[in-house]
Amino acid sequence: MPDIHSELDVLRHSTAHVMADAVLSLFPGAKIAIGPSIEDGFYYDFDLPRNLTPDDLEIIEEKMRSIIAGNYDFEKKVVSRQEAKKLFKDQPYKEELIDDLPADEEILIYIHNGFTDLCRGPHLANTSMINPKAFKLISVAGAYWRGDEKRTMLQRIYGTAWNTPEELRAYLEKRKEIERRDHRRLGKELDLFSTHEEAGAGLIYWHPKGARIRHIIEDFWKTEHFKNGYELLYTPHIGKAWLWETSGHLGFYQENMYAPMQIDNMDYYIKPMNCPFHILIYKTDLRSYRELPLRWAELGTVYRYERSGVLHGLLRVRGFTQDDAHIICTPEQVEEEIVRVLKFSLYMWQTFGFPEVKAYLATKPEHSVGMEEDWEKATSSLKAAIEAERLPYVLDEGGGAFYGPKIDLKVKDALGREWQMSTIQFDFNEPERFDMRFTDSDGREKRPYMIHRALLGSIERFFGVLIEHYGGAFPVWLAPVQAIVIPVALPFTDYAGEVRDILHAAGIRVDADLSDERMNAKIRKAQQQKIPYMLIVGESEQDARTVSIRTRTGEKINDLALDGCIEFVKQKTAEKTLI
Ligand SMILES: [Zn+2]
Ligand SMILES: [Zn+2]
Repeated sequence: MPDIHSELDVLRHSTAHVMADAVLSLFPGAKIAIGPSIEDGFYYDFDLPRNLTPDDLEIIEEKMRSIIAGNYDFEKKVVSRQEAKKLFKDQPYKEELIDDLPADEEILIYIHNGFTDLCRGPHLANTSMINPKAFKLISVAGAYWRGDEKRTMLQRIYGTAWNTPEELRAYLEKRKEIERRDHRRLGKELDLFSTHEEAGAGLIYWHPKGARIRHIIEDFWKTEHFKNGYELLYTPHIGKAWLWETSGHLGFYQENMYAPMQIDNMDYYIKPMNCPFHILIYKTDLRSYRELPLRWAELGTVYRYERSGVLHGLLRVRGFTQDDAHIICTPEQVEEEIVRVLKFSLYMWQTFGFPEVKAYLATKPEHSVGMEEDWEKATSSLKAAIEAERLPYVLDEGGGAFYGPKIDLKVKDALGREWQMSTIQFDFNEPERFDMRFTDSDGREKRPYMIHRALLGSIERFFGVLIEHYGGAFPVWLAPVQAIVIPVALPFTDYAGEVRDILHAAGIRVDADLSDERMNAKIRKAQQQKIPYMLIVGESEQDARTVSIRTRTGEKINDLALDGCIEFVKQKTAEKTLI
């Protein structure tokens, strides 16, 4: 636990105490568990005689306000273990926490309004320092005691607290926007993807529209990789235990791997990584320094075990496609290669509409493999590349994996949230374990450097972030349906169908709403689907063989000839603009 508490943390945690006080007075038999401050708020876990409803939250808030108005001091006391056990004799969760404290640890309690909590603090001096108009209880969720599925399911009340009512309002507004943009909700509304608990949690089903976007992303990704001097690989999904023993994954990664299947009496594992396969391809030949650097990329689908409790839509899944690549190069080449990867990543983020990127450089941890001199070279090349690109960065001293230093890139989305996406990771482990070599210009055999890198991270997670970033209103080049033809009335249905066919033949992703609903209903539907362009056709358009464009943002272009319309959509697609 960090010892630094921001003022807001202290405010929020103190508000959690007041909430627990209120809950205990409303539910005298309640058992209280823990109540820390968290990002943007706080929670407290309770064992209650019945399930809470949203109405309860309002009653608890009301009670909290009266406690706040009581001007109670938060009083700190040091107590003996015996005293603590006595104080919390009716609170089994607190008792368990006391029992777990090391024998020599000082036991602290805080008291306000007669409510006593086992806690290390710090807290506000007095309850009146909580602004009664700047906190809110947000929701109730189930949470296992100590996160353990075998223990009691408690009720967790989430709340938030701020210094001023204005800050609270702004926060609640942002939360609403986050909910509106939730990729799981939009995934359903826009018919992009689904998951099926009954067929396996954390596994994504891509519907036609989602699959269309994925195809565009992958197509672009492949083209750019070829431009940037990469070659593409395809490798198997399963491999014998030997492969994972050699790579070391069965040693240090097994809990994330699925149980093996037996084929011809041998254990095969489904892959959690693509690297060992790429290494096998590397080793199919004696490699010379003349061939290096090799840049090999693969959209490789991997499977990793995640606890069911942490699975979350597209963001945390059990099967996903990494946009993986391995760069195998000489020590002399490494610096330039890192710069290239970084530039490439920034270009991709720019293109997908994320201009704000921040780097996190993680250096050598306490326990590591590889030679000191390699670590130094690798770390300095990562740093040099970040500085050459003038990227803001945070140094995570000692935060690297045991097998090499890395750069993580975080991108900022439209709501200002940071998402960790790209990784550029050195590996001093696998080249050694697989005995990778190349013949250098002096005729001697040497070990190449190997860098794993993923730009988007995984296609699934990237898609989740993309949906939320755009709130489902994808830029024209990514929109699964770019335009929809809408006749103003039934007599123009044939012409609408004809326009659709002509645009479709010209390579535009176009649909036509030929149902017998009224035009306004069709427009509303197209708006809900966030289709960039509605092409309205009526008598004058039919006579002149034109369309009138209405963009999803409300602009209008009247009487555009069909060629002009095709040109317009193609231009916007090429420019990769939002609309
Ligand atoms: Zn406390
Ligand atoms: Zn790899």
